[in-house]
Amino acid sequence: MLDAKTTCPLQTDNADVLLDYCSRSLDPARRGMLERHMAYCSECREMAAGQAEIWSAMDMFDAEPVSADFDRRLYSRIADIEKVPAWERVWAPIRAYLQGQPAWKPVISAAAASAVLAIVILVRPEAPTAPVAAPIEIQEVVEAEKALEDMDMLRQLDAEPEGN
Ligand SMILES: [Zn+2]
Repeated sequence: MLDAKTTCPLQTDNADVLLDYCSRSLDPARRGMLERHMAYCSECREMAAGQAEIWSAMDMFDAEPVSADFDRRLYSRIADIEKVPAWERVWAPIRAYLQGQPAWKPVISAAAASAVLAIVILVRPEAPTAPVAAPIEIQEVVEAEKALEDMDMLRQLDAEPEGN
């Protein structure tokens, strides 16, 4: 029996009590006594803290079991990333920029996205492998502005009648 003041599980070869406590299999009465004991026994506190870390790590591991098709999905995702074309790498920052504008709907409609996508393909650098940092020609800026106006028009057509 654990007496709060006098009995330390570590001193009395009852470390199992601590292990049960950390695995949450200790009955409430004994858990209460142990918690009162740990309030002043740093040795038991440290032991419990170490065990709790292990158990929480195991909980985390359990939370995301590796599913049977994990490898298949992983390789499929890697393939998806690898087949991103050069223009998508140019387009992605533009899309991120547009989606960051508060005036825009959180998700650009498919039609508007396609419109800009078409423009981006028109104004993309000659070589798909050209560095993204290539200087932007004035003509491209003009075309990009026109694209933004087109998108704004599409957005307004798209907007809910109640202006939601
Ligand atoms: Zn103790």
